[in-house]
Amino acid sequence: MSGGEAMSGARRPLVVVMSGAGISTDSGIPDYRGPNGLWRRDPEAEKLVTYEFSMADPEIRRRAWRMRREGPALRARPNVAHEAVVRLERSGTPVRVITQNVDGLHQLAGMPERKVLELHGSARSVRCTRCKARSGMEEALERVAAGDPDPACEACGGILKSATVMFGEGLDPAVLGEAVAVTKACDIFIAVGTSLQVHPAAALAGLAADHGARLVIVNAEPTPYDDRAQELLREPIGTSLPKLLERIAAG
Ligand code: ZN
Repeated sequence: MSGGEAMSGARRPLVVVMSGAGISTDSGIPDYRGPNGLWRRDPEAEKLVTYEFSMADPEIRRRAWRMRREGPALRARPNVAHEAVVRLERSGTPVRVITQNVDGLHQLAGMPERKVLELHGSARSVRCTRCKARSGMEEALERVAAGDPDPACEACGGILKSATVMFGEGLDPAVLGEAVAVTKACDIFIAVGTSLQVHPAAALAGLAADHGARLVIVNAEPTPYDDRAQELLREPIGTSLPKLLERIAAG
């Protein structure tokens, strides 16, 4: 128990916020990966984020680097929903974020790195496919801008990729294990901006409910877990999530 919790007397609830693409659309990032996202609709675009194609074909990698330079993800700023999660955390309520997003906006808004579990990795870093060294996406893109269309690992010369989980790659078992653990332990599980149709995010919502958490779903469209939720919020995330989290912070 942390000092803040001890001083407040009553134990504060552990809150898990699991976010999907919907929390970042107000920041200008489209839902690429969802059931109707670009990656599913356009086979050529899907190749750019499929591990096997990317490793086999330098031209696919060159296109992917160009796309990363031009895409909105690295220029996007957090919005009021990301900021509301940070305010809850700073109020002294223990909060963990599990996110399907690779945009890093929770951390940019002020969530401590160690409290954010990125199920699909991060578009703000690159990883060497040979020696596994990680470095910044921005530095890699500077090398692309300077004329290297497919920059290699500076340590070992291996192929570099975005530190996101591509199609054809498994999730990081350590990240997934921690997500399962906090899901089982939490008192309130809030699923925000996710259709709960893609695993493991979908399964985590069910797991939270199985372990007695209060399940709150904040999503414009119905989800397969709505009948297990204690509370459904259909209003836009930018207004409904801040209100919900203020209510939780007030106890
Ligand atoms: Zn390397």
